[in-house]
Amino acid sequence: GLAERLQSTLKKIRGKGKVSEQDVKEMMREVRLALLEADVNFKVVKKFVNDVKERAVGQEVLESLTPGQQVIKVVNEELTKLMGGEQSKIASASKPPTVIMMVGLQGAGKTTTTGKLANHLRKNHNRNPLMVAADIYRPAAIKQLETLGKQLDMPVFSLGDQVSPVEIAKQAIAKAKEEHHDYVLIDTAGRLHVDEKLMNELEDIKAVASPDEILLVVDAMTGQDAVNVAENFNERLDITGAILTKLDGDTRGGAAISVKAVTGTPVKFAGMGEKIDALEPFHPERMASRILGMGDVLTLIEKAQTNVDEKKAKELERKMRTNELTFDDFLEQLSQVRNMGPLDELLNMMPGAGKMKGLKNAQVDEKQLTHIEAIVKSMTKAEREDPDLLNASRRKRIAKGSGTSIQEVNRLIKQFGEMKKMMKQMTGMQKGKGKKKGGL
Ligand code: GDP
Ligand code: MG
Repeated sequence: GLAERLQSTLKKIRGKGKVSEQDVKEMMREVRLALLEADVNFKVVKKFVNDVKERAVGQEVLESLTPGQQVIKVVNEELTKLMGGEQSKIASASKPPTVIMMVGLQGAGKTTTTGKLANHLRKNHNRNPLMVAADIYRPAAIKQLETLGKQLDMPVFSLGDQVSPVEIAKQAIAKAKEEHHDYVLIDTAGRLHVDEKLMNELEDIKAVASPDEILLVVDAMTGQDAVNVAENFNERLDITGAILTKLDGDTRGGAAISVKAVTGTPVKFAGMGEKIDALEPFHPERMASRILGMGDVLTLIEKAQTNVDEKKAKELERKMRTNELTFDDFLEQLSQVRNMGPLDELLNMMPGAGKMKGLKNAQVDEKQLTHIEAIVKSMTKAEREDPDLLNASRRKRIAKGSGTSIQEVNRLIKQFGEMKKMMKQMTGMQKGKGKKKGGL
């Protein structure tokens, strides 16, 4: 799938100490292929790749991130932007009821999604919607909505299949006003393909219902077709948003990425399964992270940006490289890590960190951190800078001074040594081969 391909591409540069223009070019070539293979609209791909290239090559360097991480950051941001940036909310009319027309091809998931949306509005927004059965053509379509209504214990308005959809819509809205429903969800008929008859009927319903939203329900699994359908519906009806269904079965992601870029209308919800509660508001940034499959790394990058003093990080990096790390640096580092949140959580976010022996040993809890701090603070300046000075009697003194035990002091000194060694290795590798990740 798209996620896998993008991930393996990004992994190649993730830990690079330096990313050249050539690296970015090569990487974007693969990203381009991955997107096309995922059935993303080719114009969208072209623009996307150009935007990322421009930003990734010309951008200001953030000292606390490796260039590889920065490229990932740019890809993520551009992908989010492509899908609309902010989450797009559903309309709420100043004068209720808010009327929503559900449109789309047959089998896209209109009826199911009408039920899901009614449930969502009640459960998460405390609303009281009226569902309207306006698909009079498909056998059992009315029954299907009525069954959903029973399941949810929510009202469904229907006039059978002998009254025109336009009339049904008109009467439903009158009834909603009378009974103080704040939302009206009109489930309309679909066809196998976009055609005149379908569009005419939908336009007629639109004329009498004056909907606040026309939500196009599209099947994400149909990829580019979904986008073409969206374009067609948008031309005739001016849709206000899309709901992507069957995202749970969509391994390519092409529709999710292109709908907004091609039609200009945002995806508002995503259907994630057949169950009534399998509907989620569509969050572009979360979707991007999911596609990139590296939400954790992105979180880490964000935290690094907000928390780490860049100059200090650079100085630390130099000391790690030259093996000049002192206990003071260690303490400083620990306090920064603490500002970022629980240590084990942080370590878990670092790719491969769990596997590194040294870091695993460094997985300590908050209480241990307090002890470590006390131990280091009980050392003299000379001891902090040169651990070799720490003979048995000094260790004893430190344990006493810090209110800890000799065992704890010994353990810390050993861990510090291991950490130093490992950091030297890490920075060495990063410099030499660009293979290992930089971390913080
Ligand atoms: P309509 O013809 O547009 O009204 O489509 P339906 O609501 O009848 O749905 C068609 C089929 O798609 C049904 O079997 C639904 O259970 C299924 N479906 C709808 N939304 C989703 C979804 O988000 N995920 C999955 N896996 N199936 C869905
Ligand atoms: Mg239906």
